[in-house]
Amino acid sequence: MNHKLPDLPYEYNALEPHIDARTMEIHHGKHHNAYVTNLNNALADYPDLQEKSIEDLLTALNEIPDAIRGAVQNNGGGHYNHSLFWPSMSSDSEGAPTGDLSSAIDSTFGDFESFKKKFSGAAATRFGSGWAWLSLDSNNGLVISSTANQDNPISNGLKPILGIDVWEHAYYLNYQNRRPDYIESWWNVVNWNIVSERYSNK
Ligand code: MN
Repeated sequence: MNHKLPDLPYEYNALEPHIDARTMEIHHGKHHNAYVTNLNNALADYPDLQEKSIEDLLTALNEIPDAIRGAVQNNGGGHYNHSLFWPSMSSDSEGAPTGDLSSAIDSTFGDFESFKKKFSGAAATRFGSGWAWLSLDSNNGLVISSTANQDNPISNGLKPILGIDVWEHAYYLNYQNRRPDYIESWWNVVNWNIVSERYSNK
């Protein structure tokens, strides 16, 4: 059993009032944990695949046997997405990026506010469950996209550096059907230090 639930890098209540402690507890301890368990179960009869990293599994889904491809895509994606998501947030957000990432955002999207508007739009209009992303393309250009379910841009050749979970389980207790309010509030907890680090490691 290769894959493990990572610890949250902060307490359940660290992101309040933007994300409430009960949501974080269920989201991490139940939802993410279930993706890890189900991924390990899917791989149980495939020792070769157990040796692969989650990134290697998701970047070559076509090489996964038919019998478990859907389970790996959904649960492996769930594990990968949430592992990226937790450290992307902090109780001590800088509010906006600085340095190279800030310059790249300005030159790609006009300015930070225009970037936020476009990213929030992608998150708000993702029909049903899914994610919105800021990723790097093969030329290290910044791209905003969204994916359904637990799909991830790495399966499409992109490298995600920031994502927002817009499944209802991410916000329903506090925001009910008001996904745009959750998105607006989430900007207050983005950990721009780590997003910049991911950008710099391109
Ligand atoms: Mn989630």
